[in-house]
Amino acid sequence: MTLSDFFGHWQTAYWKIGLRYFVMAGLTFVAFYYVFKAPMLKRKIQAKFPKNKDYFRDLFYSLISIGIFAFMFVSTFSFLKPYTNLYDDVSEYGVVYYCFTIVWMFFLHDAYFYWSHRLMHHPRVFKYVHLVHHKSTNPSPWTAYAFHPAEGVIEALIIPIIAFSIPTHKSAIIGYTLFQIIYNVYGHLGFEIMPKKFNTHWFGKWMNTSVGHNMHHKYFVHNYGLWTTIWDRAFGTMNPKYDEAYTYATEAQKIKESTLTQ
Ligand SMILES: [Zn+2]
Ligand SMILES: [Zn+2]
Repeated sequence: MTLSDFFGHWQTAYWKIGLRYFVMAGLTFVAFYYVFKAPMLKRKIQAKFPKNKDYFRDLFYSLISIGIFAFMFVSTFSFLKPYTNLYDDVSEYGVVYYCFTIVWMFFLHDAYFYWSHRLMHHPRVFKYVHLVHHKSTNPSPWTAYAFHPAEGVIEALIIPIIAFSIPTHKSAIIGYTLFQIIYNVYGHLGFEIMPKKFNTHWFGKWMNTSVGHNMHHKYFVHNYGLWTTIWDRAFGTMNPKYDEAYTYATEAQKIKESTLTQ
């Protein structure tokens, strides 16, 4: 592959990843922050709304992150490919295995994110790597990809990590990244859309929610997890007030309706 081929693929990947980000973040933003703002206020996690400068800052950093993701994507599927475990023919391992790889990616990424995230909160690296993402103490859908370029690289490394782990098909990775942007936007939504008591449900208890990640943005500690709360619960990093905050975001409607003004 020549350099100009690589650049061509990078551009295509940039547009695809960028389009997905803009569609997902944009649609939810318009829906929750404008069209259905009034009826959804009872599900708002923090009373205030972010300022315009927060949206633009997040958008600016996200545009850089998308370039990094595209670079990592194209690198993994081009010159790195011969060294990876990527395979081309689905029938080689069958459909059941194909489905298993999606579950595998889910848990691998969940573990990678938790530990890399905790590392990024180390006082020696936090302000150089992770502070940009935490500038949104009250996140919005635009925060989904708002990373410092150094963090962008750390986040994007999950693509080669997956490719070097077990045999995985490219389309499964692309499908997984689609799930990733949807859940990522949900995590930064600013509204809780899961059902009441989801936090104490036998299944919901183990899933990370928008309230959970919102608390991480607000308080900077606890709730380091990505998709699940498994690691946070296992290592004692769940915010002790999580259940209370979840109940407030989903049930305390009367109190909130009188205090939310915007
Ligand atoms: Zn976040
Ligand atoms: Zn963090």
